[in-house]
Amino acid sequence: MKKTLFALLLISTGAFAQSTSKRQCGTMQHLSVMKKQNPQLETEMQQYNQKLDEWLYINLNQNHSSSVGITIPIVFHVIYNKADENISDAEIKSQIASLNADLTGTNADASKIPAVFKDIADSPKIQFCLAGRTPDDKPTTGIVRIETTRTNWEGELDDMKFKAKGGDDAWDPSRYFNVWVCHIKEGDGYQIAGVAEFPKATVTNTYGCVLDYRYTGGVNSIQRVATHEAGHCFNLHHIWGDNECGDDRISDTPPQKDCNFGCPVFPHVTCNNGPNGDMFMNYMDYVDDSCMNMFTKGQAIRMLAVLNIPPYNSLKTSNGCTPVGTNAVDDFLTIENTLDVFPNPSNGIINFSFTINNKSSYLIEIRNLLGQEVFKDIIFDRSGNYKQSVNLQQHGKGCYSITVTNENTIQAKKIVIY
Ligand code: ZN
Ligand code: CA
Repeated sequence: MKKTLFALLLISTGAFAQSTSKRQCGTMQHLSVMKKQNPQLETEMQQYNQKLDEWLYINLNQNHSSSVGITIPIVFHVIYNKADENISDAEIKSQIASLNADLTGTNADASKIPAVFKDIADSPKIQFCLAGRTPDDKPTTGIVRIETTRTNWEGELDDMKFKAKGGDDAWDPSRYFNVWVCHIKEGDGYQIAGVAEFPKATVTNTYGCVLDYRYTGGVNSIQRVATHEAGHCFNLHHIWGDNECGDDRISDTPPQKDCNFGCPVFPHVTCNNGPNGDMFMNYMDYVDDSCMNMFTKGQAIRMLAVLNIPPYNSLKTSNGCTPVGTNAVDDFLTIENTLDVFPNPSNGIINFSFTINNKSSYLIEIRNLLGQEVFKDIIFDRSGNYKQSVNLQQHGKGCYSITVTNENTIQAKKIVIY
């Protein structure tokens, strides 16, 4: 009801509705609150960005546009008090589809990118899949619904990310991309539509995006607050650099005076950025959803850097999207099988080998029948036939499963120890 009313207001009263409900992103306000709470945060973020810049320095000239896409598990925590805040599965799926289109550059309106910007338009080729297993390997739809007594949430605080405060705890952010959907408290003449947390060198249980329920989903329309906030989670700044003619740390985005609202007419020249002017159609500006349609090459590779350096590179090899079977032995989704275990059965000293087809990272896990992990390793940048020996004798006799996962395949075998 409320959502319908809101949509009607926007349509029927045009400019008036725009000024009373001007949507904004709360990421920078949230960051300044976090910096007050944690005096080390500034240094921690600088250290992380130094590592990220090192990765960019090495990888900047490699052709990432031809690289295979990355798929990472996503979990939606829907925190609701009123029924319309409890957005439907269909809305969440539609949101993921439009997020994936934007992050893979397959959005239908990419055709509207101004000709002068077409060559530098790019995407990180990141896709999200709804989680198919919980952090402790239980079946899940990837959508958690929490009814709460709180009627709204301050956008610059993290209360919605904690069960103890009426929200819902994050799922291990090194394995899942967390999104919280809730009613963000209305501002005076503006509405915070989304808030993101930038990455740093240590995993935080608050990493992810918060989206206001009125700006999430959109079965019949495009909703791009999620695209903008995911951009921040992957370390992108606002295109105007949060300062007059500021620096967004991306060399192929032009400087621009300030954020743009509505749907500006191209070109919109500020900060001596003529003749092409502001790249206001960039997802990291504030224009209407129907007027934004691109990231640049510089933004795409910066986003990819986050998924290639610790701690969030582990999202690439997470098994969070692989559905759980009825037991550990059924829990196999074999897409490719070069995995060999020998001898098998064994006395606990096993060897395994598999063929590496592309130079991505592989996650190796061995679990007992209860699903508890008894061995884990991650290997990077190898090629050819990979071999390793493991001693499992201390874990006792019985059945185990070994899985070898990379960004798009999972291989599994049963191991018997007598
Ligand atoms: Zn923002
Ligand atoms: Ca720039």
